[in-house]
Amino acid sequence: MIKIGAHMPIGGGFKRVPKETIEIGGNAFQIFPHNPRQWKANLPLSEDALEFKNGIKKYKIEIDSMLCHSGYLINIASPKEEGWKKSLDLLIKEMEICSALGIKYLNIHPGSHLGSGEDEGIKKIVKALNIALDSEKNTFILLENVTKKGGNIGYKIEQLKLIIDNVKQPERLGITIDTCHAWDAGYDIVNKLDEFLEKIDKLIGLEKLKFIHLNDSKNELGSNKDRHENIGMGIIGTDGLKKILTNEIILSKPWILETPGDNEVHKQDIAKVKEILGVI
Ligand SMILES: [Zn+2]
Ligand SMILES: [Zn+2]
Repeated sequence: MIKIGAHMPIGGGFKRVPKETIEIGGNAFQIFPHNPRQWKANLPLSEDALEFKNGIKKYKIEIDSMLCHSGYLINIASPKEEGWKKSLDLLIKEMEICSALGIKYLNIHPGSHLGSGEDEGIKKIVKALNIALDSEKNTFILLENVTKKGGNIGYKIEQLKLIIDNVKQPERLGITIDTCHAWDAGYDIVNKLDEFLEKIDKLIGLEKLKFIHLNDSKNELGSNKDRHENIGMGIIGTDGLKKILTNEIILSKPWILETPGDNEVHKQDIAKVKEILGVI
């Protein structure tokens, strides 16, 4: 059975997420641990967390199929001390929220060096991760591959490897591969998927690849744009996605849709994926 789901809204409380996941045809999900456009983040109310956990049990959602996605403001690669510290504090708070919800994995964008250069940026990321992993002991951090724009670090697998190799607790780090980001960063995952996966295996190890962010792309290979598109509607397209999704390694990982639209649209996207694979 494939593991699939979408990025789910938390406006109605965390408690609604497990049921809504099942309603859209999923068995996996991703959520923000708080409003991603704010620096403010609170631990979930105990009643909300309890109902959420009960839902997880009731609908039999597996621990390895649940993911939190870090907020947009966090930048642990920042050369500016104040912004870096604020980012680190919020990252730790997000890890605490994950822990309170019983979610093992927190997905982060490695961050932007804002002009200080990749080496400096990676040093700041490693420093922040070491402190964060020491402060909160339950949560695992997944580094997401991104596109090359705005000083972003993590558009190359080599950069993700450098971060993992340099932290003190590499066993608590893993990666998420976003198909749109990989495509936009110039990895031809349609025609050269084996090569791409071999690179991940050689540099990081495929066992560290924990999730796939399954998105079509609005743009051409190597465009560096990062514009997600609904399943089969983008440049990767239905045939391209079929090649990716029928790969045995990809098939063994949970897939999270971050395509445009709400639950109703994601339900259609999940149905489309199942149609592509010929499963009901
Ligand atoms: Zn992301
Ligand atoms: Zn993503």
